[in-house]
This record gives sequence, C-alpha cells and structure tokens, in this order.
Amino acid sequence: MKLATYKTTDSEPRLGFLHKDCLVDMEDFGEISNFPLPNDMLELIDMGFEVIAEINDLIANTSQEDLDEVSYGLDEITLLAPIEKPRKNIIGIGLNYTEHVAESARTLDTTGKLPQQPIIFSKPPTAVTGPNTDVILNSKLTQQLDYEVELAVIMGKKGKYISPENALDYVFGYSIINDISARDCRREGQWIVSKGQDTFAPMGPYLVTKDEIENPHNLNLTLRLNGIEKQNSNTKLLLFNINALIEDLSTVFTLEAGDIIATGTPAGVGAGRNPQEWMKDGDLMELTIEGIGTLINTVREI
Ligand code: MG
Repeated sequence: MKLATYKTTDSEPRLGFLHKDCLVDMEDFGEISNFPLPNDMLELIDMGFEVIAEINDLIANTSQEDLDEVSYGLDEITLLAPIEKPRKNIIGIGLNYTEHVAESARTLDTTGKLPQQPIIFSKPPTAVTGPNTDVILNSKLTQQLDYEVELAVIMGKKGKYISPENALDYVFGYSIINDISARDCRREGQWIVSKGQDTFAPMGPYLVTKDEIENPHNLNLTLRLNGIEKQNSNTKLLLFNINALIEDLSTVFTLEAGDIIATGTPAGVGAGRNPQEWMKDGDLMELTIEGIGTLINTVREI
C-alpha cells in the first residue's frame, strides 16, 4: 500500500492511500467500512503493521462507487511529507556505500577506510519537508549545498537488541529521503549543523508498506539534478544492510514505531566530483527509488 499525508485547499493534513491513481482518505474510508481508521500516519503505524492486511481486505470488499465517494484526484490535493513531524530525530547513516566512502575521502575530512561499524548521526524533525517544496540555501551558513538520495526505513514497532534475522519484522515500510548536506558546516567531525538545517530532509512522496517491496536490498536509486543523472546505484550495495543497521541501532537505543532511518547515499554527490559541484538557487532535484516513486524539490536561496 502506498500511504501519503496530504491536504486539500481547505483541510488540515490528513492520511490517505493510493488506489487506482486516486488518493482515498483513510479516515473517511474507515467510516464507510465501519472500521475506525486514523487521519494521521503515526497513529496508523501505531496500530501495527498487521492493520495493512485488514485494510487491503476491506478495500477488496468495497465497491469502486463507494471508494470514489472518499477519493480525490491527485490534481486536487497536495502531497506532504509522509511523516510531517517525526517524534524523534531522523537517524542518519554515513558512508554506507563503498564508492561514496572513496569519493568522500578524496574531498572531505573522512579517511577512506570502510567503517567497521555504522556511522550514526541525526537530523531534527524540523528538517523534514514534503515533495515539491523548496530546500533552503541559506548563504549566510553555507556555500556548499549538496544532495544525497537515500532509502528511508520506517520502523513499525518498538524493539531493543533486535537480531538481524528478525529485523525486518520491525519495519513498517519505506520511503525516500534527500539527505541534504551543507559540506562547509561540519564542525570537528560533528554532522548535525551540516545535515540538520530546516528543510534538509525532503521526504516522500509515499510511504510504501513493506509488503509491496519484495526485496529492500535490491532497489535501484537515482538522483537527477536539473535533468542530469548524478547518482545511480542499488541498495544491494549497502555496506551495512537494513538488518545490520537495525541490529546495531537497537543495541544503542530503543527503536520505536515511527522512527525513521536514512540508510546512506551512494556515490555521485557534488562534494565527490572533480571539480566539486554545489547547488544554487533554482536547482531541481529528482530522486527516484524503484517501487516508491520520485521525490522532487527545488533549491531556493535566501
Ligand atoms: Mg547521507
């Protein structure tokens, strides 16, 4: 199921799901199905992944006419970030594709050695922004704005000391995150100023539930800047795969439903190019991950 947070011209953010190129309102669908459903993504995740199968059964038993009553055309709505206000910081993973480790060592302050453990940082909830919004280039803070396409993992239930064998049981679904980075804002190896600024975590367009992704470790991911392909890789090349990340993170802190893990970016970032390339006002970023969709944002300088 492709889930979305959306709004109409006269509504607060609401939860919906994609069905035959229309967006069905989740709460309204629950009402016509006599099965109470929430109007908020985190509340749905809190119900547990099992609810997705129940909703799919209900959809199969609902007539198209009834679905039309609670649906919008995609041109009638605005998609927002699937989780607009995460309860906690997004967990970011650094240097998690081999080629990106190499390009970073050529141009940034990293060593080029493959990490022996996942490199963990975070991005505050205020960094999140939705599809088709502006990413702010604050020229008082940075002259080195960069992009990073990443598979985002959304946790579905609470866990501590999760074994790698069981890790995917704790996942709810997947999305796309652009781990926007101001390369000149690193402070003594700390990344949060570089990666935590407002609008530095575009997310979306959908949260795709895990039952729709046959193998999260075989997804093509690409990024185009102003129509030119800059990144093109596959999640099978993750150094620490999703199972290993969940095992490691859950030994450090309790993972909870709704937590978001940005799994790292492949090679091709602006910082790794010769000469280096930095984004400027008006640049258009298009991030595509197989099975999830395309996330588009524009750079706006202030
Ligand atoms: Mg990253």
